[in-house]
Amino acid sequence: MSEVRVASNAGFCFGVERAIELAVSAVEEGPGPVYTLGPIIHNPQVVEHLREKGLMMAKSLEEIQKGAVIIRSHGAPKGVIEEASSRNLKVIDATCPLVNRLKDRVMDLVGEGYKVVIVGDSDHPEVSAILSFAGPQCLAVKNVEELPNCENLTGKVGLVAQTTQSLKNLQEVASHLVVICSEIRVYQTTCHSTNTRSAEARKMAREVDVMVVVGGKNSSNTRRLADAAAEEGATTYHIESAEELAQLDIPKNCVFGVTAGASTPSWVIEEVVAALQSIG
Ligand code: SF4
Repeated sequence: MSEVRVASNAGFCFGVERAIELAVSAVEEGPGPVYTLGPIIHNPQVVEHLREKGLMMAKSLEEIQKGAVIIRSHGAPKGVIEEASSRNLKVIDATCPLVNRLKDRVMDLVGEGYKVVIVGDSDHPEVSAILSFAGPQCLAVKNVEELPNCENLTGKVGLVAQTTQSLKNLQEVASHLVVICSEIRVYQTTCHSTNTRSAEARKMAREVDVMVVVGGKNSSNTRRLADAAAEEGATTYHIESAEELAQLDIPKNCVFGVTAGASTPSWVIEEVVAALQSIG
């Protein structure tokens, strides 16, 4: 008989919960239509559920003629917010407070003359939005290997990290920069919820036979959780929903660990747990 253990931190973080609550309130209170630019969170089931409630999704502002635009928890580029306001669209800001804290740190550092390095992915909406506010004094690197390609990092350097980056990655970049720049100011801007979830997933992965990580395939924090579990040596499956389990060669009579990304709703986790319990 299999055993299923569920991580206590699996599922929605407070930033995602807040964004969904703001979106639902906006749809209920009207006047509509209410749009998000891209999916409100990286989870197709939740996006579909909210669409049925009336939350529309647009790929760009050009598709929106009137109504309200919700800024997602990742934030949005400066130009998008300015254009939405200039076109008299109602802007509802659901940017996560931790993303805003990161942006404030970056803007303070830029204002004080620091060249700012964000440890993160420049293509991720959170980072690209912050880069758009900070301007040319700010750049993003994924990891320490990318630093040699960066110019002008010998003077005053400010260092921060995308909220969902690992602390280890930030530490590695800091260790390298401290040798080459004249002054460095580092802010620990990673998200506590992400750090706790990742630590719990690693611990669980060391104690179970199989890890099942539930969340959107396009969710970087879910992918990173699955990578963390696999690094600890557990056989790891990244799935979006319980239906996918039927396609996989899941072993029987073993201990399963289940965790989920920050944008995975509890009902999807519960369905996965029930399906694993029925495996035998
Ligand atoms: S993962 Fe962290 S930073 Fe991102 S939305 Fe959730 S609480 Fe905010």
